[in-house]
Amino acid sequence: LFVVFEGGEGAGKSTQVNRLAAAVGEQGHEVVVTREPGATDIGVRIRTLLLSDGSGPSAPSPRAEALLYAADRAHHVATVVRPALARGAVVVSDRYVDSSLAYQGAGRTLPVDEVSWLSSWATGGLKPDLVVLLDVDPAVGLARAAGRGTAADRLESESVAFHERVRYAFLDLAAADPKRYLVLDAALPADDIARAVAARVTELLAG
Ligand code: C5P
Repeated sequence: LFVVFEGGEGAGKSTQVNRLAAAVGEQGHEVVVTREPGATDIGVRIRTLLLSDGSGPSAPSPRAEALLYAADRAHHVATVVRPALARGAVVVSDRYVDSSLAYQGAGRTLPVDEVSWLSSWATGGLKPDLVVLLDVDPAVGLARAAGRGTAADRLESESVAFHERVRYAFLDLAAADPKRYLVLDAALPADDIARAVAARVTELLAG
């Protein structure tokens, strides 16, 4: 089973990834927790290229950025996600294809169908069984992320309008394929979110 968490900055994805991993592990399943970008050695290097300079002079151009995310994803899927799924593990990833559609597509205004094609090529068409979208108002999420120590220059390098486009892109993707998504308000208490996610995943594991 392949479960992905998506959402804007400060949505609380990493907390919920860990909560789900613990819940699924308690049920006796092997769980692989992973993330994009940066789950592999190559991915860590790509993550540095992508995120170390905000929108500064050595930040990649939008198309280069999209290709770097795709390269990270191709390697991640081939070396981490597919092998884990093949041995029957539950894979829980912090971000996947929808982040590229939202950030590189809607955020950077690259054609979304092209970004989608690039991701399909990178992954060989591997789709998650469930995407948990933690929906957060950018004003709230950015404040949360700043409070938790995410570098201010990274958060401030994009406008609020950018983060609004990202948010609505995630919501549109969920609306277009409701069976594959669980959309939750990131402002809910973490326990309530964790319970709702665990219930849905338990259902999928049983079915
Ligand atoms: O989720 P995490 O905080 O690790 O994401 C790191 C950053 O990478 C986020 O600030 C997000 O803006 C950016 N990102 C992106 N495009 C992706 C994935 C992440 O711009 N496809």
